[in-house]
Amino acid sequence: MAVEFTPLSPATILGYPRIGRRRELKRAVEASWAGRTTIDELETTARDLRLATARHLVDLGLDAETAAVPGSFSFYDQVLDAVALLGAVPERFRDLVSTGVSTGSTNESEGALSLEGYFTLARGEGDKPPLEMTKWFDTNYHYLVPEIGPDTPIGFVDDRVVREFTELAHPADGGHAVVTRPVLVGPVTFLLLSKAAGPSRGSQAHPAAGAPDGFHPLDRLDDVVDAYADLLRALAAAGAPWVQLDEPALVTDLLDVPFDEVADAVRRAYARLATDLSPAAGATGTAERPAILVTAPYGDLRSEAGDGLALLAGTDVEAIAVDLVRGAVPAGPVPGLETKTLVAGVIDGHNIWRADLDARLATLDGLSALGSGAVAVGTSTSLLHVPHDVGDEPRLDPDLKTWLAFADQKVAEVVTLATGLAAGRTAVAGALDESTAAVRSRAQAPGVVVPEVRDRTAALTPADVERAPYAERAAAQQARLGLPPLPTTTIGSFPQTAEIRRTRASWARGELSDAEYTAAMRAEIASTVALQEELGLDVLVHGEPERNDMVQYFAEQLDGFATTVHGWVQSYGSRCVRPPILWGDVSRPAPLTVEWTAYAASLTGRPVKGMLTGPVTILAWSFVRDDLPLGDTADQVALALRDEVRDLEGAGVGVVQVDEPALRELLPLRRSAHAGYLDWSVRSFRLSTAGADIATQVHTHLCYSEFGQVIGAIDGLDADVTSVEAARSRMEIVPELADAGYARGIGPGVYDIHSPRVPSVEEVTELVTLAAKSIDPRLVWVNPDCGLKTRGYAETTESLRNLVTAARSVRATL
Ligand code: GLN
Ligand code: ZN
Repeated sequence: MAVEFTPLSPATILGYPRIGRRRELKRAVEASWAGRTTIDELETTARDLRLATARHLVDLGLDAETAAVPGSFSFYDQVLDAVALLGAVPERFRDLVSTGVSTGSTNESEGALSLEGYFTLARGEGDKPPLEMTKWFDTNYHYLVPEIGPDTPIGFVDDRVVREFTELAHPADGGHAVVTRPVLVGPVTFLLLSKAAGPSRGSQAHPAAGAPDGFHPLDRLDDVVDAYADLLRALAAAGAPWVQLDEPALVTDLLDVPFDEVADAVRRAYARLATDLSPAAGATGTAERPAILVTAPYGDLRSEAGDGLALLAGTDVEAIAVDLVRGAVPAGPVPGLETKTLVAGVIDGHNIWRADLDARLATLDGLSALGSGAVAVGTSTSLLHVPHDVGDEPRLDPDLKTWLAFADQKVAEVVTLATGLAAGRTAVAGALDESTAAVRSRAQAPGVVVPEVRDRTAALTPADVERAPYAERAAAQQARLGLPPLPTTTIGSFPQTAEIRRTRASWARGELSDAEYTAAMRAEIASTVALQEELGLDVLVHGEPERNDMVQYFAEQLDGFATTVHGWVQSYGSRCVRPPILWGDVSRPAPLTVEWTAYAASLTGRPVKGMLTGPVTILAWSFVRDDLPLGDTADQVALALRDEVRDLEGAGVGVVQVDEPALRELLPLRRSAHAGYLDWSVRSFRLSTAGADIATQVHTHLCYSEFGQVIGAIDGLDADVTSVEAARSRMEIVPELADAGYARGIGPGVYDIHSPRVPSVEEVTELVTLAAKSIDPRLVWVNPDCGLKTRGYAETTESLRNLVTAARSVRATL
């Protein structure tokens, strides 16, 4: 290489939580949305947060000068940031972009979005729907899906990344400077995550409608790469020594483009960015760009489809980050790596366990066989997925705390490992001993392994996941429930009013006695039941007023889980969740839901459906153990739920729904792992439900409409009734299920609960008719897409009234 780049720091992280230790960014962003503060005030808060964060990371041991600190801030989402950087604004929002006429604001280059405009893409405006949101790889983080068409504008229109670099490298307060490494979604991943949008006239409701046949966003690669090249030049001019481009698309088989095409795109993109922006071989001089680190978090770069590591090693980038928690590297040399720095992601960015530093050092030692130019220690992914600091959790059990590492502890682990790698084990002996002691204490702690729980799972037999044949069940259930054709129901939750939330919060703070709390919840349940009777629904629910969250509610009551106070993790935009920590063997000390469901049932002669969250979803939305296979943990949770089903039956409840909205989201990124996953996930669901009597009707609910990969699994769940999201896709799933041989109850959602819009009777009638034509009408149920907890009572009541009217009118035609 003709140019010498600043060597990358030997200790780094791929990204850091941006929401703030006390969710400062969330509060600031929401205050500005509400008009309580100005956009300038928001910019100031964000700048202070970035500066404080960068300096905090330096205090934790990351180097201030060698690009160790990632510039990974975002106001909302890193994919939306790339949309803004490129000015790739969908047609319906084009009026938001600047015409380039200077207004004195900071963001005036032609085609750029203001910060307000940026938020509008995320949140929609009037009848303009926002960008769609979907899960980021196999995490619970949601990104916004760019819409890229043949004539979407693409250029380097927004230099926010450069300004953020400069503001930390030359801080206005005259304090300590930090030379960061700006982090961006890589060009190939950006386009692979985009959806094809129509040329200029795509309809607003269906932006993808009208994309020309055969067009794929990847067709715009050269334009995106040109814009990135301009950005890299600007970063180099500002003095940035390194830039990080995230290319997690290289670790998944779930995209719609085969590996060969992805590989070709990577080669083209990085030839342009890495090779063309450097002086020609043999010449000397300065590169027009910073050194490039390409990362491949969330999985293994190598699969049957192809070798992503060899691919990246064959480019002229200066460094490659590999995920060594989820992935592995070959045992021998990789051609091309000898000129590169390998950033070894040995510290888990996606889970909260303290690392066994001794074992990680051994992994790092083994990497010398690859023959890379240098090895730096890193995290496997951005630390976006973990909370800030274990030290902020006064209420966690003190022993449990010593087993955990949140973001700040992980930074310290990375720094320790880098020192150990450079100076030998003795240089970090104290830290290694502490880590070993923590690992040992965890393995031996009471509750981690509970013999009775292990004995019970070990004794399971295939009969435990089998129910009687469906025909027998269906007859017994019909005899008991006596439901009309096209029965109507809801998915479980009713609107969570401000009053309900206040009641729960004051009870949690101890301001409300148990008796007062129970009375308040009962009053709420009674009014929900009365409303459903008045509306004429066939299968009622209690409405879930007592549940803050469908996973946390169960985690708080099950042994083996802990919950945090400040353990917030960004879910999307300003929304954060506090995933429970599943640390030990799971069991159920007492019934979880029976009192509420039984109370609802006591108020009505109609069937009431008990609501449980399924094992896969409980795992998917928690931090899970790393010392037991997921399938084994799922069985433990399933047995707790199985006992709950029994107790509900004992209380006279004849319908039980076990929600599995996360079934698809936990699907592994690599196809080779699908069969194993579907096997344990389906088994655990069946384990939780198969103890039910034949006359107990088992429902499940799945929260998405793209079933492709899991359609067989849905049948495999063997539920008597499956409700699914279907309104936006206009019941598409029903014929798909019928084709796949599914022949039990199916409740395709007849209206979208994500909007306050009230569906008309005609609209619902049309959808019900459509469903009843695509499958045996005797199997069809009528219900909304999902739970109603985010809705208000006014629109909910009207929508359900229309739903019942529509179901009755179609019923009359059967
Ligand atoms: N029973 C839950 C509810 O109605 C289901 C939520 C979900 O599918 N995410 O709120
Ligand atoms: Zn749902």
